[in-house]
Amino acid sequence: MRPGFEIDHIGIAVESLEKGFTLYKAMGWKSMHIEEVPSEKVKVGFIEFGNQANVELLEPTSEDSVIKKFIAKRGPGIHHICFRVKNIEQVMAQLKSEGLRLLDEKPRVGAHNCKVCFIHPSSANGVLIELSEKMS
Ligand code: ZN
Repeated sequence: MRPGFEIDHIGIAVESLEKGFTLYKAMGWKSMHIEEVPSEKVKVGFIEFGNQANVELLEPTSEDSVIKKFIAKRGPGIHHICFRVKNIEQVMAQLKSEGLRLLDEKPRVGAHNCKVCFIHPSSANGVLIELSEKMS
């Protein structure tokens, strides 16, 4: 039996959603779902794939946005991978008890009406991992 994690989306830092969408437009997508997340100082564009996984384009909305700093440092590119979970508090407690380093003490509210938290790249093979639970 597999644990109850699903890949929800791959977060990609872009200078602008419009520029980032060029590739997907060429592939045949007509539009993306755009949402602003003021707490993270980003505008996100979701592009939905057939297996219910998304690509999440992240455009910084402020000079002190972490995405702005990310792009300044290494250019646009993969920023994080998000795993969908059923009970985020329980998963966080489990990972903490296994000694993993989390960036959040408590889940915060992210895009798409979800509770999210992040696992530090030092505990995740150098990749920033987001955990997300959909709130009903
Ligand atoms: Zn994300």
